[in-house]
Amino acid sequence: MSGKPVPEITEMNRAFFEGTARGELRLRHCRSCDAVFRFAHPLCPDCWSDALDHVVASGKGTVESFTIVHMPPYEAWAADVPYVIALIKLEEGVRMMANIDGDGADVAVGMPVEVWFERRDDVAIAQFRRSK
Ligand SMILES: [Zn+2]
Repeated sequence: MSGKPVPEITEMNRAFFEGTARGELRLRHCRSCDAVFRFAHPLCPDCWSDALDHVVASGKGTVESFTIVHMPPYEAWAADVPYVIALIKLEEGVRMMANIDGDGADVAVGMPVEVWFERRDDVAIAQFRRSK
């Protein structure tokens, strides 16, 4: 137990977290209009189709915005401060929030990043680090 909360697995996010457990960053894909988006949509946000499946993202993106957290929101993060919460724009155009490794001293808007998966109890959490 890390002491950190883990996401509740629901029908809405099950395929996403089955993917992260396998080292895959899965995006929802609309078979009607080819849009890609995050898992939290039962219908395509572009055309409202329910003909959805999944694609595996490259795991690469860039930092669009970020903040450095100095005061831990919970005791479980006390050893991690300072840490980074960032808005990442994936190569596929989808945005997601995640942590970026490190104390944030070298993080900048536009910095290329790549996904990695943090094991937290029984769930794999998508996190990011500077691309090599
Ligand atoms: Zn669509």
